[in-house]
Amino acid sequence: MHAAGIVRVEERPDPRIEQPTDAVIRLAATCVCGSDLWAYRGVESVKAPMPMGHEYCGVVEEVGSGVSIAKVGDFVVGSFFTSDNTCEICRSGYPSGCVHRTGMGSLGAQAELLRVPLADGTLVATPGMPDARHLPSLLAASDVLGTGWYGAVAAQAGPGRTVAVVGDGAVGLLAVLAAAQLGAERIIAMSRHAPRQELARAFGATDIVADRGDEGVAAVRELTGGLGAHSTIEAVGTQESMMQAIRSTRRGGHLGYVGVAHGVQLPGDTLFFSQVALEGGPAPVRRFLPELIERILSDTIDPGRVFDLSLPLAEAAEGYAAMDERRAIKTLLRV
Ligand SMILES: [Zn+2]
Repeated sequence: MHAAGIVRVEERPDPRIEQPTDAVIRLAATCVCGSDLWAYRGVESVKAPMPMGHEYCGVVEEVGSGVSIAKVGDFVVGSFFTSDNTCEICRSGYPSGCVHRTGMGSLGAQAELLRVPLADGTLVATPGMPDARHLPSLLAASDVLGTGWYGAVAAQAGPGRTVAVVGDGAVGLLAVLAAAQLGAERIIAMSRHAPRQELARAFGATDIVADRGDEGVAAVRELTGGLGAHSTIEAVGTQESMMQAIRSTRRGGHLGYVGVAHGVQLPGDTLFFSQVALEGGPAPVRRFLPELIERILSDTIDPGRVFDLSLPLAEAAEGYAAMDERRAIKTLLRV
């Protein structure tokens, strides 16, 4: 990305092993993230041209001398933060907070080849080479599925609970899928867009609320006996969506917030009297990857359906534009 709204596909030097714990993988496919749009829209500044992309799966091409788990030829899925998978934070279930983490965004996963630091702790191999039909879902596991799943877990979605999901991007839609998989009794998807409402229903939403703000909160309360949802997942990251999520949650309920926050300021008194438990932040996707991969390969879930546009990598700019203009939910880039 050269500047807000300006994406070009250019030749860059092939990544190489720089540290003994690195691996280089050849991507099977890559994609554009909703969070990439913050820079595309100029909300995050782009001071110099930067490589983009942090969602990836593919085949290990080369490993450093210190890598013992990841093997050349393995098909692997990783996440947007690397993790050693051994430190106290990782072992407590929060690998995205690893004391040795590196953000993959600066390495540029929208490419053919990618260097992955801390390969042994970061990458999860599939048992054997997956079928091509599973690629979109495995790619989704890298971020949007893992993030939506964390939102649902953080919100304590499960049997007997009503879940509300604020946000109808790929993460919000996959939070619906996650809540359904976790056994939620009722799932309210908040969306104004017919194709997204349809996908939300396919993923397990039982109710759709098209209103937002005060009207959206009122609609959720009306569906829940005036109390609000037990579990709410926030998958946008704005002041409006965060307040809508808190106010849609009942007293004693739980909110999982996984939209990357931009300019969100929470009023302490509202938070205090809401009696809502908040957990969120960058999803510990690595924690969930083995389980998500298993559910995908056994055809229990099909999260790859969030990719409603597939383009060759060379047309990445159009992939960004389509998502920015909400013509596409999520763009897969073929490499
Ligand atoms: Zn760690």
